[in-house]
Amino acid sequence: MPFSTSVVLSRDVEPAWPDVCVVCEGPAHGATARVLRSPPVGVFSLLVPVLGLFGWARVPVPVCEEGCRGRLRRQAWGRRLLLLGSAVLGFVLAERWGLVGDGGVRGPAVVLGSVFLAVGYGVVRPRWIELGTCRAGHEYEFASPEVAAGFREANREWVVPSWRND
Ligand SMILES: [Zn+2]
Repeated sequence: MPFSTSVVLSRDVEPAWPDVCVVCEGPAHGATARVLRSPPVGVFSLLVPVLGLFGWARVPVPVCEEGCRGRLRRQAWGRRLLLLGSAVLGFVLAERWGLVGDGGVRGPAVVLGSVFLAVGYGVVRPRWIELGTCRAGHEYEFASPEVAAGFREANREWVVPSWRND
């Protein structure tokens, strides 16, 4: 069971956003923050985001001016650092245990296992909002089921039905 709520819209649609801050769920008063949207999973999504290239984009999302923009940015950077830190930690552990460069699979397994823990944390504690691209369209993932429901209602004509957003 996913802990975030996902809404998929057709790619050619500019979404309508309820005037609700995706962070604190209070009124956004028309204020927005730009959120990075990743391209479809594939080789390009593994590259460093190059805006305007490879499908990476920045999308304006309602975020109020009561400090929520900073919270959103800190959360995004915190998650990136967590992911990077977990990879470094896995590597350090693998090296300490003498598994680096021995040609075996245990070294890479330790690194992957460590990264997996960070990814798992992101599933249990989803980001307030995460934007991605899937085969069916653009994916909007919300930590709050209420914000997701409001967004789905505002865009109901463009929602792509799928087992995830029913
Ligand atoms: Zn807010």
